Amino acid sequence: MLAKTIPFNQPYLANALPHIACAINKKHVSGNGYFTKKCHAYFRNLYARPTLLTTSCTVALEMATLLAEIGPGDEVIIPSFTFVSTANPFLLRGAKVVFADTMNEYPNLDVDAIEGLITPRTKALVCMHYGGVACDMEKLTALAAKYGLMIIEDAAHAILSYYKNQHLGTFGRFSTLSFHETKNITSGKGGLLILNQPEDISRAEILWEKGTNRTAFHRNETQKYEWMDLGSSYLPSEINAAVLYSQIEEINAIQKRRTTLWQNYYSGLLALETQGKIRLANLPDYATINGHLFFMECDSQKTRDRLIADLRKKGIHSVFHYLPLHESPFFKCKHDGRPLNNSVRFSERIIRLPLFYELKNKEQEYIIETIYNCL
Ligand SMILES: *Cc1c(COP(=O)(O)O)cnc(C)c1O
Repeated sequence: MLAKTIPFNQPYLANALPHIACAINKKHVSGNGYFTKKCHAYFRNLYARPTLLTTSCTVALEMATLLAEIGPGDEVIIPSFTFVSTANPFLLRGAKVVFADTMNEYPNLDVDAIEGLITPRTKALVCMHYGGVACDMEKLTALAAKYGLMIIEDAAHAILSYYKNQHLGTFGRFSTLSFHETKNITSGKGGLLILNQPEDISRAEILWEKGTNRTAFHRNETQKYEWMDLGSSYLPSEINAAVLYSQIEEINAIQKRRTTLWQNYYSGLLALETQGKIRLANLPDYATINGHLFFMECDSQKTRDRLIADLRKKGIHSVFHYLPLHESPFFKCKHDGRPLNNSVRFSERIIRLPLFYELKNKEQEYIIETIYNCL
């Protein structure tokens, strides 16, 4: 037994304070200042595309929906096994959401199962890379091309992870990352919009600044700034950008540690899979891991719920994950009734284990040992 509970997540913010102090000392904290520019430069270089920091991944998806001009009469195909933020932005614009199932082997969008859902009204295919593991992007890209559809990537989990050698977040016409405190790097709350087509940046900057051309004005490209388009308050404060930059400076160490912890869990729990007691993530060969989350699949919901409760008693905080969106109280009556069995199965059986930068080897060994005792 440990002296303290092992939390499921603990944000690593060691070097945030000096950066926050620096942002405050610059006496410009409302956003788009020194640290925002540093973050933009990092992501511009990483993705070789224009990017915009946002106050969350959720609003980055709202920006994507506006930029894509998705609205009433349009349909988008979305996995059911994802967070509500993948779906809400489209519904907020009056579009219709059509939920798709995940693969049997891994809780990512089943690209083979979506062609039959495409109608003349379909405008976009939306994918989410669960746990930072790539969806089948070649297949998805081919399907999108065949029907002239746009891909939007919810890459909230997927920083520094790849499909073959290409960064996740660079396939979609619009892609988004999250810097919520549960993600690999955090700004407290924050997100990123990645633009695949450089010409989208001028409109994106306007939406970002409440529909005004203020960003261009600050670059001395216009005499005054005016209301040009729809928009909202999507840009984060310099304080958030400063926190994010403190994490960017340590991103290699963070990714390395999280990936090591992921691999330790995998090798440590492999014998349980061999014994048929659990299923570990079955990674497609085109995907990489980035240590965003570690999950395993129990043989039933009952076993999963009992394991969470038993681990709790031993001071370990583990958690389940997404509830299928097509069965949610909000959407149930809007769904067309198709069963999405893999989404439901993963939802019932997945358990996620503590995984964060400062998790100690000793703690992880204790977690693995306790799982063996419980199962
Ligand atoms: C965390 C998360 C989001 C939302 O991120 P915020 O930055 O909190 O808005 C969206 N989609 C997925 C898949 C997520 O995991």
